[in-house]
Amino acid sequence: MTQHLDPRAPWVISTHDLGRRPGSMRRMNLALPAPADIGVDMIGVPKDADVELDIRLEAVMEGVLVTGTAQAPLRGECARCLEPVISLTEVDFQELFFYSAEDAAESDSLLDGELLDLEPVFRDAVVLTLPLSPVCSEDCTGLCVECGVRLADAEPGHGHEVVDARWAKLQGLIPEHNNDQES
Ligand SMILES: [Zn+2]
Ligand SMILES: [Zn+2]
Repeated sequence: MTQHLDPRAPWVISTHDLGRRPGSMRRMNLALPAPADIGVDMIGVPKDADVELDIRLEAVMEGVLVTGTAQAPLRGECARCLEPVISLTEVDFQELFFYSAEDAAESDSLLDGELLDLEPVFRDAVVLTLPLSPVCSEDCTGLCVECGVRLADAEPGHGHEVVDARWAKLQGLIPEHNNDQES
């Protein structure tokens, strides 16, 4: 994690004004464009969509603690009926960015000088909240397996007389016997 951050990248935040004195604190409200590829198969945050962030930077002994909330739009497809799903997600996150790699474990985040990169923190927080099978509504009944019509849009009681051609023949040949009521 020795790669240098680009100070002009939208998700790279400067801690210059915060300083390093433990207890020093700053709040920031930001609107940032969503990075690409935040999502799972059927749902995600569209690239460049507005992400609203409310973050607090706090200098601690080992680094800068970032606590925040992000609001982002979601777009996807209903896993049952394939209609578009549009919603909003709100995620909380907290991450300690260490000043020095010596204090940090390999998976911890590091500051690059005065800069820190919020993008991976946001990405991880959002992806965790995404449903693997998003639905347009909890009671979405999906598609008719016979004709593919969206059942929510179909006539109530939508169904098909399923008659296999071979059965049709047999039904003509064998007289009906009223077994139905016996068992
Ligand atoms: Zn649906
Ligand atoms: Zn149907």
